[in-house]
Amino acid sequence: MKIAVIGCGYLGAVHSAAMSSVGHEVVGVDVDPRKLEMLSSGHAPFYEPGFDELLTEQVATGRLSFTDDFSKVADAEVIFIGVGTPQTEGSNAADLRYVNSAIESLKPYIGAHTLIAGKSTVPVGTAARLASEIESTGARMLWNPEFLREGFAVQDTLRPDRLVYGIGDGDTTSVAQLDEVYRSILDTGVDRIVTDFATAELVKVSANAFLATKISFINAMAEIAEQVGADVTELADAIGLDERIGRKFLNSGLGFGGGCLPKDIRAFQARAEEVGATESLQFLSEVDKVNLRRRDHVVDLAARELDALGSKRVAVLGLAFKPNSDDVRDSAALDVAARLTADGYEVRGYDPKAGETAGRVQPDLDIRSTLAEAVAEADVIVVGTEWAEFKEVDPATLESPAKVVIDGRNTLDRKRWHDAGFKVIALGRRTLE
Ligand code: NAD
Repeated sequence: MKIAVIGCGYLGAVHSAAMSSVGHEVVGVDVDPRKLEMLSSGHAPFYEPGFDELLTEQVATGRLSFTDDFSKVADAEVIFIGVGTPQTEGSNAADLRYVNSAIESLKPYIGAHTLIAGKSTVPVGTAARLASEIESTGARMLWNPEFLREGFAVQDTLRPDRLVYGIGDGDTTSVAQLDEVYRSILDTGVDRIVTDFATAELVKVSANAFLATKISFINAMAEIAEQVGADVTELADAIGLDERIGRKFLNSGLGFGGGCLPKDIRAFQARAEEVGATESLQFLSEVDKVNLRRRDHVVDLAARELDALGSKRVAVLGLAFKPNSDDVRDSAALDVAARLTADGYEVRGYDPKAGETAGRVQPDLDIRSTLAEAVAEADVIVVGTEWAEFKEVDPATLESPAKVVIDGRNTLDRKRWHDAGFKVIALGRRTLE
């Protein structure tokens, strides 16, 4: 089938290459010339495991191309919308200007043959509004929220846990059309839920609200554990054995960040206020507060340890918001590094993949290209992102004056670091002196 994807960021670029890999002819449309140049030459503009290889391979087939020219979508049967929906500056609400502008740009080129399938995360009510805006063109609208996780984007796109279709009244034509796009995925037996626009939009934001709540729940337990000398990791292991609770997403640490969870729970609250359900989601502002307190806590811990040593020199290992990604949007690790720098400490940051993206956002930060360089003169080490490299490093052979490590992700082998002579401070766990 001929398909188009509008917006070629983490979601759209991966979706474009994945759809090409299952045999479709795909044109990806974006407004960022740097991104388009890289994508067109088969090079990933961001780090995502397996994506660069997939992109190179698919561009070489001739089925996958990228452009800034919206007229190229005219013969597409299905047009996916994957543009950004960031937080509006000065407000909690989602900024829909990119979605609105994408729809405006598409209008001259769509007609009765076109299905527009929205994938961006949007406030409930958006799909119905856009459906009425494109009605006069004859095109149809479906909302197909995306659940991929960065770090697993390729596999999540090709083997999702579920597909959700939000459709207008009785629109079986659009369901059949999207089924054809996803045929090879559906044939693997993946669950597909067909519902109305509003429910589909809510499935996405409520899933993110639940995940954020689970993380802040365990981080609140970490705060209590620290007060009473308990161990939050053992607590998580014990409660996680209850099938109703489950162990996943119960890792206490610096909390959630990235381009989705923080802005999605805020936009969800803003939308709840607009529809008169303010109280229903008030708990999400507590979830947000618990989450942001983790960053304050790690900054305070690092400052306390450095001040006690009479030192300013600290290494922050990890700058990406999560491992296996170079995404630093609302990254807790980068926030900690930036705040310590602003407070006058000499921070050396290191990330296996996000050094460049972090440098673009925080040009004042001293970012080194190896772990060894970052720790070479540090008296305190802070782990901000749970990269495998940090877990695997042998603390006994580390060439660093540091004798204090703050494990912001509860990722290190505490005993190993302690045996190597470190004071090990972990969130929600007893300090090993
Ligand atoms: P992103 O910022 O990486 O990509 C957005 C892209 O849209 C950019 O390349 C930008 O240049 C492009 N764009 C903006 N306006 C445009 C226009 N008018 N026409 C064409 N292109 C335009 O963002 P992302 O992380 O890919 O997220 C996109 C959407 O997907 C958001 O709504 C997000 O919440 C949702 N989402 C993201 C993830 C994720 O893990 N990244 C997962 C699920 C859902």
